Amino acid sequence: MRKPQKKTRQEEALSHFHQLFRQASAVAKANPALADRYVLMARRIAMRNRISMPRQFKRMICKHCYRFLQPGTTARVRVAKRRVIWYCRNCKKYSRLLFSARKSA
Ligand SMILES: [Zn+2]
Repeated sequence: MRKPQKKTRQEEALSHFHQLFRQASAVAKANPALADRYVLMARRIAMRNRISMPRQFKRMICKHCYRFLQPGTTARVRVAKRRVIWYCRNCKKYSRLLFSARKSA
């Protein structure tokens, strides 16, 4: 049996991420522990396939304690000095993300 191509594995992992994060955000309010489990599964998929997590998913994970971050429930989000600041309510640490002004056509 042939090993699956790298491309298809990446695409598979990507669809997994979409699914896991959708589920995580659905349960985050009622069951934060379950949301954290989904995030852990997503991270494991990324590590196993040796791919980096897409940006839109990466920012939903606390980089200090790897918990699921959801604005309003598990995280606080502020914008200051061209940065998006995520405050994790679990470990009480901040993550700062730079955002660049998107060039409009
Ligand atoms: Zn944290």
